[in-house]
Amino acid sequence: MATTSIIKPIKCKAAVSRAGGEPLQIEEVVVAPPQAYEVRIKIICTSLCHTDVTFWCMKEGPMAAHPIIFGHEAVGTIESIGENVDEFKVGDLVVPTFMAQCNECIDCASERSNMCSKLAFQIGHAMPRYGTTRFADAKGEPVNHFLCISSFSEYTVVDVAHVTKVDPAISPEKACLLSCGVTTGVGAAWKVAGVETGSTVAIFGLGSVGLAVAEGCRLRGASRIIGIDLNPDKFELGKNFGVTEFVNPSELGERSVSEVIIEMTKGGANYCFECIGLASVMNDAFKSSRKGLGKTIILGVEMHGAPLCLESYDILNGKSVMGSLFGGIKAKNDIPTLVNKYLNKELELDKFITHEVGFNEINKAFDLLHEGKSLRCIIWMDK
Ligand code: NAD
Ligand code: ZN
Ligand code: ZN
Repeated sequence: MATTSIIKPIKCKAAVSRAGGEPLQIEEVVVAPPQAYEVRIKIICTSLCHTDVTFWCMKEGPMAAHPIIFGHEAVGTIESIGENVDEFKVGDLVVPTFMAQCNECIDCASERSNMCSKLAFQIGHAMPRYGTTRFADAKGEPVNHFLCISSFSEYTVVDVAHVTKVDPAISPEKACLLSCGVTTGVGAAWKVAGVETGSTVAIFGLGSVGLAVAEGCRLRGASRIIGIDLNPDKFELGKNFGVTEFVNPSELGERSVSEVIIEMTKGGANYCFECIGLASVMNDAFKSSRKGLGKTIILGVEMHGAPLCLESYDILNGKSVMGSLFGGIKAKNDIPTLVNKYLNKELELDKFITHEVGFNEINKAFDLLHEGKSLRCIIWMDK
């Protein structure tokens, strides 16, 4: 069994965020050896999810933990393993995930929850078991982690509960997509909502998460999938994901989005998904859902931490609201299943990749997402 005493620190390149909203800087960092229950991963490629952007924008407050290495959607190979790691060997292809699965706690044992309580969800500026960082900059100063992953680095250390081994038959850029956004959307449609054949669905926000919800609903046989977005470019794109109708809130004049959706669906949609991260839109989604059975599923991370205020009478009328991290997916159980569905040509992944850049151009990926031009931009570490 490997011991940390023979594993050396690695010097490599990382894209460090030194101040909120400022371009990332490619710097040399030192990545410490993995401790017990940890592995060090050589990242092959990573991609940018809006959650990185939300936290990168933060200039102050406890969540603005600069200097920090962002990135939580990635794929790589195991470079070295710490003590007490039996699940992986050097060279395994793995997908890190921001949600842990320890397989020891009562929540991991539950079929209904993906919220591991032993390594509970946290923004994670340090290693989850020890509270210490594995990154130091050229001056020896510590650099923070993000979401227990920090994949904007050629090497990173991740707790074993946050790592899933995948079939190497899948190409790395497709596996990378399953690390966060696409899995969240598909999981929300299948596991959280349980969308069934013939359902009417409204999806607020047609980024990768929203379009992955659409892909999940399409595969479940939803009859109508209404996409709501301010960016008209997303409408043409959305057709490839099964979106059947589009609503642009900026083109409705005096009418509200919910009025329009209620009219289109003669009373409201069966399932409404919020995939943006704005409390006002969460409210629109809830209002657009159908009395008696309408479910609203919140996936967006509220950008300003704003509270959500709902009509209690609407709840009495049988509408429900639920939220989900990672689409209810348990990484170690469900990601291999999604990989198989992709390899069997059931689940389509290729269409989520709209751009690819080399690591040195990582800031371009931020510009593309910010300008609404990309779904997922794959960032290759060796290009
Ligand atoms: P994205 O930036 O690719 O997509 C967001 C879309 O929303 C864009 O198409 C944009 O044009 C649209 N939009 C923005 N404001 C709007 C408005 N007011 N009305 C209508 N459309 C609007 O983002 P993404 O990577 O798909 O992520 C979407 C959200 O999901 C983010 O909040 C992200 O943090 C969150 N997220 C949550 C989880 C989870 O586990 N719950 C996982 C991944 C991402
Ligand atoms: Zn994400
Ligand atoms: Zn657990």
